[in-house]
Amino acid sequence: MDHSSPTIIFSIFYWLFAFCFIVGPADFKGAGLTVENLLSSWLGSEEIDFVNFHIKRTSATLIVHCLFPIGYYVGMTLVPDSGVSFGDMFSTSLELGWHVYSSISLVILLGALTVVFYWQINSWSYHPIATNLSLYKSEDNTSDSAWRVQASEVNNEFRRIDKYATSFVGWTRVIVTENWIIVTSLYGVKLTPQDKATISVLQTEEHAVSPESNAMVQYVHLRIKPTIQRTLKPYFARVISVEFKDLKESLRTRVYTLPDLSILQSTDELFLKAFREQLNQNDRYTSSDPLDQCIGCMQRDAEVKLTKNCGSTGPHECKSCNCKPMWCAECMGRWYASRQDRHRIETWLSGSATCPMCRAKFCMLDISLLDT
Ligand SMILES: [Zn+2]
Ligand SMILES: [Zn+2]
Ligand SMILES: [Zn+2]
Repeated sequence: MDHSSPTIIFSIFYWLFAFCFIVGPADFKGAGLTVENLLSSWLGSEEIDFVNFHIKRTSATLIVHCLFPIGYYVGMTLVPDSGVSFGDMFSTSLELGWHVYSSISLVILLGALTVVFYWQINSWSYHPIATNLSLYKSEDNTSDSAWRVQASEVNNEFRRIDKYATSFVGWTRVIVTENWIIVTSLYGVKLTPQDKATISVLQTEEHAVSPESNAMVQYVHLRIKPTIQRTLKPYFARVISVEFKDLKESLRTRVYTLPDLSILQSTDELFLKAFREQLNQNDRYTSSDPLDQCIGCMQRDAEVKLTKNCGSTGPHECKSCNCKPMWCAECMGRWYASRQDRHRIETWLSGSATCPMCRAKFCMLDISLLDT
């Protein structure tokens, strides 16, 4: 293999593109570079025919993604000096490494094509979405296409405006219709009637900054277990915590949650948690004065002092505040949050506020917990 630079440049760009296309960062999705956008006329409308749309989408996604390995080989034959030519794919004159690579790539592609060919037999009756739906067909209808009854029920319910759909977390989204709970992901869709599922919260996961929104976010991990057969495996989904309440309310079945799990259901709750964490990292302030009660809530002792620690300079720099400690951490956090732009959560942690008494400007780094 000749490692001349066009080969390397092509390789880097090709695999970077493939990675972005498959993993799909927000920018790529925004630019319309997804299977859904590229094949939209063939896929039809999700709103009108939800089940067919996803049967085609998952099949197309599998094939398109399995085209990438062989696409690299084909692309390489066009790169000058790569030493690879299209006609050599099956000839023994090809270097052993490329020979193995092109063979494996072909097997992957043929495997995907075979799987999709099998799925589409009998008008897609063997697709996993169809076999999933046929679990719930009525007992007196034993025909292969009995799943279409459930499919049209799902389609009808999805068309209604009272369905609830969470935002995408990666490629996953949870949809609740009148009778069904549905999880869509990159290669598959899981559907279960709500009264035949046990839904529980497994755990929560916090990120101060999420790659999608650059904002504070907590994910709630859901486990959905179909109950009609013991052998059916549960499936999982993540939703952002501020959508959890709406999701729970749109479900007719109960969501089991461990009592000690704290789900942060509003932006303020999320912020206060991040605020507390920041305070624990900040420098402490030593004071020997007796503590007053917090003048915000009148319930806790004053806990924080505003002192300039951040090193900002210039006309907009933070100022030292000479007020004595008067606020508990939570009240200070709520005050700080109330001074932020409600629509730009991503700016909150790096924002600033003014002291409620003397109007001195401070930022998150300037809030010290008291050491007494
Ligand atoms: Zn307070
Ligand atoms: Zn002050
Ligand atoms: Zn500051």
